[in-house]
Amino acid sequence: MISDAIKDEIRAIVGHEWFLDSPEDLVTYSYDGFLREFMPDAVIVPGDKEEIAGVMKVANRERINIIPRGAGTNICGSSVAREGGIIIAFHRLNRILEIEPESMCAVVQPGVVNADFQKAVAAYGLMYPPDPASMFVSTIGGNVALNAGGPRGVKYGVTRDYLLGLEVVLPSGEIIRTGGKTLKNVSGYNLTQLMCGSEGTLGIITEIIVRLVPLAPAKATLQATYRDLDHAATTVSAIIGAGIVPTTLELMDRTVLDVISDYGGAQFSDEAQAVLLIEVDGEDILVEAQGKRIEAFCRERGAFQVERAGTPEEADRLWQARRTAFGAVASLRPNCIVEDATVPVKMLPAIIRKIVEVADKYDLQIGVLAHAGDGNLHPLIMTDLRDTEEMARVDQALVELVDAAIEMGGTLTGEHGIGIAKDRFMTKEFSQASIQLMRGIKRVFDPHNILNPGSFL
Ligand SMILES: Cc1cc2nc3c(=O)[nH]c(=O)nc-3n(C[C@H](O)[C@H](O)[C@H](O)COP(=O)(O)OP(=O)(O)OC[C@H]3O[C@@H](n4cnc5c(N)ncnc54)[C@H](O)[C@@H]3O)c2cc1C
Repeated sequence: MISDAIKDEIRAIVGHEWFLDSPEDLVTYSYDGFLREFMPDAVIVPGDKEEIAGVMKVANRERINIIPRGAGTNICGSSVAREGGIIIAFHRLNRILEIEPESMCAVVQPGVVNADFQKAVAAYGLMYPPDPASMFVSTIGGNVALNAGGPRGVKYGVTRDYLLGLEVVLPSGEIIRTGGKTLKNVSGYNLTQLMCGSEGTLGIITEIIVRLVPLAPAKATLQATYRDLDHAATTVSAIIGAGIVPTTLELMDRTVLDVISDYGGAQFSDEAQAVLLIEVDGEDILVEAQGKRIEAFCRERGAFQVERAGTPEEADRLWQARRTAFGAVASLRPNCIVEDATVPVKMLPAIIRKIVEVADKYDLQIGVLAHAGDGNLHPLIMTDLRDTEEMARVDQALVELVDAAIEMGGTLTGEHGIGIAKDRFMTKEFSQASIQLMRGIKRVFDPHNILNPGSFL
């Protein structure tokens, strides 16, 4: 509980209007995409870094938990008040401060929505590659704190690959800057990258400097349809193994295709057991050559249909199916658990076989949706959290999938984060020595453990 006197002190810093503690406001901020309810004590919407620094000083003194929150779209439970406290929302810090084509970089505030930023830099002929499927809602601050990826990750990498520098308010209230606008910078420890993926446990990000790349002049979008899921999976590792680097290489299995069709997203052949959605971008000649090579690759490995979009509208139609996938699957059962285990691309066929085996073994409906080109899988477990018997089977299936991914040289999470969704699995990937090291880092930044407590540490 936060006393009325302390609430008044914080109100005086952020302004009455931006201190929210009505029951309606608290409920609104009690959930994120992980869908477990944790009621905060209050929510603040600061207008600048000085206000944040002021609040952090009070919180540090009074040992009040502070939870930074972007759009709340994370699906690992990392932007809710797991142990009570105050949520900091960033929708007033939503300005693009600079776009510098000469230095190929931009400076943004954390509350900028990813898709708005993409649009703004495209006007300069530039691209900000990280493209999480949640990009129309999620914020750059949340993307940095969770090191978000997306379909373009195969060729362009993830958020950390575009991060040049940050401004951060520490739990003590001190404001630091890390990195800068230069592409090269090897001064000192890399605090910028340490913040990236820290899930809001080390500091409050108030400014972000990112690298931009030229917008590719041409692209080709192909959809390859298979009668056999395994053939689609082996095509993926063959394409990557042959040194072709598509921009995106997405895989959807029959379960996902069925749901998309029922949802009205698109129609697929009755014979289709899997679809690969592949995009290449670059100079015209290169795109043409790569498109042809990929088409041949797919046909040689069993695709019975390869469609190539002739116009941007057709490309959009092909992408429409992939975009509706999450929403469509979510409509099938009361809940959908989105797994995120990730393996080296070579192991993709093996992990997909494992998913099919686990679904069968535990009698569960699991769809396979994957950013296949970088080995990032999203098995979609359709279930009902209220059904305790089924949830016990879901839990066993999750453990088996996580174990398989780790055994194959993979990781617990490729992009969705640990949060409270996967904290219990940390020792499967990390030794005690590594975990102690991470706890030590946390203590240096946040000795009183006020920032996003109850996290993966
Ligand atoms: C339909 C759907 C599709 C998705 N697709 C993808 C995908 O393709 N790729 C992907 O990577 N993820 C995906 N996600 C997960 C999620 O959208 C991303 O993790 C995203 O980066 C979260 O951004 P957000 O603004 O919603 O942040 P939030 O969910 O609000 O917060 C995420 C984390 O960032 C911290 N945080 C937020 N702002 C700050 C700040 N200013 N300073 C310090 N810490 C901060 C929070 O404490 C929390 O730990 C998807 C989610 C949904 C629901």
